[in-house]
Amino acid sequence: MGVETCLGIESTADNLGMGVARSDGAILANVITTHVPEEGGIHPREAARHHARVMGETLSEALDTAGITAWDLDYIAFSQGPGMGPSLRTGATAARALAVRLGVPLVGVNHCVAHIEIGRLATGAEDPLALYVSGGNTIVTGFEAGRYRIFGETLDIAIGNCLDTFSREAGLPYPGGPAVERLALEGSTLIPLPYVVKGMDLSYSGLLTAVTKEFRSGKWSLEDLCFSLQEVAYSMLGEVTERALAHTGKRELLLTGGVGANKRLRAMIGSIAEEHGATPCYVPIGYATDNGAMIAWTGVIAYGSGIRTPIERSHIDPRWRLDRVEVPWRS
Ligand code: AMP
Ligand code: MG
Repeated sequence: MGVETCLGIESTADNLGMGVARSDGAILANVITTHVPEEGGIHPREAARHHARVMGETLSEALDTAGITAWDLDYIAFSQGPGMGPSLRTGATAARALAVRLGVPLVGVNHCVAHIEIGRLATGAEDPLALYVSGGNTIVTGFEAGRYRIFGETLDIAIGNCLDTFSREAGLPYPGGPAVERLALEGSTLIPLPYVVKGMDLSYSGLLTAVTKEFRSGKWSLEDLCFSLQEVAYSMLGEVTERALAHTGKRELLLTGGVGANKRLRAMIGSIAEEHGATPCYVPIGYATDNGAMIAWTGVIAYGSGIRTPIERSHIDPRWRLDRVEVPWRS
């Protein structure tokens, strides 16, 4: 069998990503276009309209970058869930159309599995405990008995959503995470805010409500608010991650997702890893944020272990949980 080439389409939320991966582990293209809302948060139907509008040009750019034509593709992978219904449907429709036109198989990929698999490829981690923190997800996970088990997760909103919503309230530029990070560097007073860890799970909606209320009170500087929000939000992540690391005894700690770009969070993860004799692995930002390369690469390894998604089973699943996915390539 020669080297195979896979196109991956990512469209779970505000990013449309198209990536090209080869079965020898080469990533040939990773093109990302982001829908930036004119005001407010992501509107699922507007994001889907954006993706549909730029689908053709994003595909052309990915193929050009990879130096191939569509006819060189051996199969098409797409993110089948979890995510926003309208966005997912737009990507799935494009994937089906391409697969039928080219006469190649389709591979439905779980978005969260893809974040971990591209993280393993990009950092060389073999069997990490992973902290996946993004605009839509907050998950502590590791491979155990055939699946990625969830050791801890948010019970309500994702950490990135908390940062983005607060910064919008506070009139900061979009996206919120980097803006909060910049201001936090100038803050030093720790404002009392709710720290909510329940067992191994986290809750960020109470923290968001409280920090917004403190902002409106006018009692604190925005720098101190951002500093306190980061300290509390990331300490909660650190606590759950550390317990999962101690419990599983994994030797690698992988940080991925857009929020993983944060330097304060990276420092916390680094020291947790060090204390437990594990290696910290940071996924480079182009592969950490939602992207098509991760879908293409996961398509490659799933295809290699026999996974196919016939058109009649290619419907999207906005609530497809990570721990429901069989991971035969690691068993
Ligand atoms: P993703 O959902 O993986 O595409 O990542 C987007 C999320 O990452 C948004 O919620 C951003 O606010 C957040 N983000 C990006 N950069 C940073 C940063 N430096 N610190 C904290 N959050 C960030
Ligand atoms: Mg995103």
